Amino acid sequence: MRTGAWTCVVVVFVGLCLAPAGCAASGKGLRIYWVDVEGGAATLIVTPAGESILVDTGMPGDRDPVRIAKVAKDVAGLKAIDHLIVTHFDVDHLGGAADLSKLMPIRRVYDPGDEGAVPQRSHDAYVAFRKTVPYTVLAPGDTVPLRAAEGSPPVRLVCLAAARKFIEPGPEHKANPIPASESPEYPEDPSDNARSTVLLLTFGNFEFLDGADLTGGLELRLVSPVNLVGEVDLYQVNHHGLDRSNNPVLIRSIRPTVTVMNNGHRKGCGPKTREALKAVDSIKANYQLHKNLAPGADNTPDAFIANFEPAETCKANHIEAHVAPDGSAYVVRIPATGHERVFKTK
Ligand SMILES: [Zn+2]
Repeated sequence: MRTGAWTCVVVVFVGLCLAPAGCAASGKGLRIYWVDVEGGAATLIVTPAGESILVDTGMPGDRDPVRIAKVAKDVAGLKAIDHLIVTHFDVDHLGGAADLSKLMPIRRVYDPGDEGAVPQRSHDAYVAFRKTVPYTVLAPGDTVPLRAAEGSPPVRLVCLAAARKFIEPGPEHKANPIPASESPEYPEDPSDNARSTVLLLTFGNFEFLDGADLTGGLELRLVSPVNLVGEVDLYQVNHHGLDRSNNPVLIRSIRPTVTVMNNGHRKGCGPKTREALKAVDSIKANYQLHKNLAPGADNTPDAFIANFEPAETCKANHIEAHVAPDGSAYVVRIPATGHERVFKTK
């Protein structure tokens, strides 16, 4: 379904109305779109006030920026990206930014700053683009300023970690009963992945964690000895589902209900990650942007997968989540396959 051609579809779930934005009879909910950028990252959030936040931009060139602009304009009905957050400087996250800015306005940029960065190719083009817009270094504890919509709970987007630093624990954070000794050993990570910005989005009771490409040792610091995340509803599987990330202690601690993996047809969806996801009983559905086509790969059931073809012939189907105007429930959809399922917020 696409904005502009919305029919007023109302999903009734234990007495809750989950009408998509654009439905005149409803209040406005929150929307999240996972654009398929073939194993990179591009997650688009649209608030009830109509403000947009794009987290990461896929690879440089035509393919990913065109795909992001298509979902942003044709599906989400946007004219501009209000806030672009580049979580770290790997090319599959910052690569598309400069080219996307030629397709639609990007009003403001945030990233973890240049200090200690291990930038890859396209960094120069990104920095040249960044100089043309207002720019903010996002540090742990910072929030992205977002407008409230009348009649909706406020949306809060907070940075929990960036550039290897973490928020200080507050009274709302609890000691983690899972001992750190249950974590596998991970090698020290000198790459830019370790500098990933970790974002927690809250809308009413609904919580979404986007930890970008944070790797196993730092994931442990996020939840141990104090759980700085808490329990969430939706978890974007870290690092495209690679086994260098997705520490089982992280996933057991945040206890998501739904996970979305932005893997490629060969990248990510590692066996240890799949094992870690399947071991957590809170998880009701694991979504994947792609089926991993490697022989013998373990995938989630086909109903929860958006794309089945290799990158060369991929149709780039996206996954989307619509959170009810009061934040009490959400529906996850794969529009291309007609799949949709409703989940109650914790
Ligand atoms: Zn990545």
